[in-house]
Amino acid sequence: MEEKTQKFLDRLEEKLKFFSQLGMEFIPSSSSKDSSYLSLRERIIHCQKCALSQRRKNAVPGEGNLGAELMFVGEAPGHDEDIQGQPFVGRAGQLLTKIINAMQFKREDVYITNVIKCRPPDNRNPHKDEIEKCQSYLLEQLEMIKPRAVVTLGKVATDFFVRSNLGMTALRGNFYEFGGIQVMPTFHPSYIIRNEGNRKIKKMVWEDMKKVMAFLGKK
Ligand code: URA
Repeated sequence: MEEKTQKFLDRLEEKLKFFSQLGMEFIPSSSSKDSSYLSLRERIIHCQKCALSQRRKNAVPGEGNLGAELMFVGEAPGHDEDIQGQPFVGRAGQLLTKIINAMQFKREDVYITNVIKCRPPDNRNPHKDEIEKCQSYLLEQLEMIKPRAVVTLGKVATDFFVRSNLGMTALRGNFYEFGGIQVMPTFHPSYIIRNEGNRKIKKMVWEDMKKVMAFLGKK
């Protein structure tokens, strides 16, 4: 096959995969939002702004509904996410999916992403300069999707939106305003898993999610 044709087919396959990850079973006529999103996605996938790009298998831009009212923001991709190029697909991701479903949403209804888009080695916390170099991507995603509410999962994500020296226990459960978006910090699903025996943590997360549901008009 001619090289040009192969390249075209590769790009088409990538786009179809992208639409299928969004839960779409047909190809919508492309709007300027779709094409801006595709171009942002391409920039993230090929980003080399920091050293994490040298070690990654895949950058993980995020996935979900581009018209979502609700966005979940985690910290950074882990091992499974790095391999699959999708956010929250490992154990923490399975728990996040359960939380989303309990909130009467499907995963495809919401948008899910992370503060940084490449996996840090050994799942260490992202460094300040890595967050700074990556931050424009999340800001662009917020600007494009314009969710009404964002749930921040854990301290790294919460710090991105809320300027405070307080810890998660003090911050969670309250809404904070960020550029017209209501931000609800809650505990990271990995923290719930690490403290599986502690029912209080699960209960607190569910209380936080109920506030988000009420804000979005869900019972
Ligand atoms: N933890 C995160 O913060 N993000 C993921 O995508 C997976 C695990």
